[in-house]
Amino acid sequence: MGKRRGRFCWMCGRRRANERFSGRGRHDNVCKDCARQGKQARVVAQAVRDMEQVTNTDGIIRRKHRAFVERLLEHPDEGVREAARQHLEIDRQVRAYYRELGRLERAREEVDILQSRLRFAHETLRKRHGLDQTPVPPPRVWDDDDIPF
Ligand SMILES: [Zn+2]
Repeated sequence: MGKRRGRFCWMCGRRRANERFSGRGRHDNVCKDCARQGKQARVVAQAVRDMEQVTNTDGIIRRKHRAFVERLLEHPDEGVREAARQHLEIDRQVRAYYRELGRLERAREEVDILQSRLRFAHETLRKRHGLDQTPVPPPRVWDDDDIPF
């Protein structure tokens, strides 16, 4: 295995042949095609890349970098502002989803606790009334399908 041919263009995310890059600007790894798109496209791509670096694979922006993304809402370039709006919107939706999921999990745990209390009360009452010879039917609280979430 030798060294991989070509260079990586961070703007289009491709590894391309050396001929696709201009000789100058060794530290600016942008292919000729992307370089032709101009400064504005590069500014947007750079900002998007920066935002992606502070966003996890679920789409959640790490808290300490949130202010950075929010500042981009005021960026002079509309493309950057739009990308920032999208990142923040996805972040908002994914966080809301996780909050809701947590709420439902806690509700489910409460249902389990209530079911076991009901079972205990049921058994206690049956014993008290001398009905403990017959098997206690399983408590009927809710089927999964009946639970309203
Ligand atoms: Zn490129």
